[in-house]
Amino acid sequence: MTPTAASLTNETAAARARAVIPGGVNSPVRAFGSVGGTPLSIVAAEGATVTDVTGREYVDLVASWGPALLGHAHPRVVEAVREAATRGLSFGASTPGETELAELVADRLDLHGVRGLERLRLVSTGTEATMTAIRLARGATGRDVIIKFAGHYHGHSDGLLAESGSGVATLGLPGSAGVPAPVAGLTLVLPYNDRDAVRDAFAAHPGRIAAIIAEGAGANAGVLAPEAGFNDFLVRTARENGALFILDEVLTGFRVHPAGWWGLERERGARYVPDLYTFGKVIGGGMPLAGLGGRAELMEMLAPLGPVYQAGTLSGNPLAVAAGIETLRLSDAAVYAHVDSASARVASALTEALAAAGVAHTLSFAGSLFSVAFRDAPVRDYADAKDQDAWRYGPFFHAMLQHGVSLPPSVFEAWFLTAAHDDAALSRIEEALPYAARAAAS
Ligand code: PLP
Repeated sequence: MTPTAASLTNETAAARARAVIPGGVNSPVRAFGSVGGTPLSIVAAEGATVTDVTGREYVDLVASWGPALLGHAHPRVVEAVREAATRGLSFGASTPGETELAELVADRLDLHGVRGLERLRLVSTGTEATMTAIRLARGATGRDVIIKFAGHYHGHSDGLLAESGSGVATLGLPGSAGVPAPVAGLTLVLPYNDRDAVRDAFAAHPGRIAAIIAEGAGANAGVLAPEAGFNDFLVRTARENGALFILDEVLTGFRVHPAGWWGLERERGARYVPDLYTFGKVIGGGMPLAGLGGRAELMEMLAPLGPVYQAGTLSGNPLAVAAGIETLRLSDAAVYAHVDSASARVASALTEALAAAGVAHTLSFAGSLFSVAFRDAPVRDYADAKDQDAWRYGPFFHAMLQHGVSLPPSVFEAWFLTAAHDDAALSRIEEALPYAARAAAS
């Protein structure tokens, strides 16, 4: 087991980390910047819980920021990784597992006779997936400009950081230093759910827009779900103007529905099929794995068949692929039904606790994903998400932590339930919420 020396505290662990790691973290949101206090230093995670260096256990609603759909360290996923490791850690060559995973994904996106995806290329991170999708869209259309939406996060590649969600939103940044102005200038950032803004952008840049990229449902500035018909509108408008539509399912893919946000929206009557999808998180079951996929004719513009280059020493790593295959195999209808109902139960306890404490709030939903915003009115776009009493989240977050529940350390993140959140875990969350709601009220 992982050592938890009695003398170790989260404070000493963080101080030691800060001496050798910038800010003590390898991804900014982990630093607790917007909630204050000392980040937890985690030594183990199992099922619905994580354990910090002091040995204290918390019910976890971060789920590694989404991948842990089955809960942490599902024994069969761990066994699949262990078994793969006995055969070698990385080959730098094709493996049967990669093909099997691509088939599993293609099968899931084969919905009621509509083949959503014909080819899948595996990479290691969501950032690589969206970066490659953009390059492919540019290569296919011969155009340079892309449209993204304010508050949507697509990873940290240069062109996609403008008015981005996730850590960029948490830290209140407009974008990032170090992005050359000519690169940033190729990204048009539009308000989400605003059809006129999209029409106007195409009118203002005729023949220059390669693609629209959108999160399935935004979940990085709190949950920003598309209004009914918005994604259909985006695909139609892109097609009418010779541009492509990239659906970023890194966070929503295989989490909100077996076929991701696209599958969930099709069940609700949407008719669009994206040109390209990007995946991450659940597809690797907690290991570094991501992918991009779409129609054969488009995907086959990637090297070695086509002129658009992309590569990776560890792409399709056999341990990560083994975790991904086992995770997708185990994620059956019962898993999705459980995550849906666990989510609904926590959301309703949350709103009840906040209402009882007299705290103005609104919950936003996208399937089983939800987030809270401390304002009365619903959240439709990033401007709405920022227009709230965000300061209430710090005391709320820390009261939950004191009562043994680990939330995402930012109000701009979704809460992640898993198949491992059983009645005992959900009850602990329900018991903690009234304390946190009272802390948010004061
Ligand atoms: N796209 C979306 C929608 C995401 O939520 C994220 C990460 O949170 C990414 C892309 C980037 O993925 P990664 O952190 O694996 O680079």
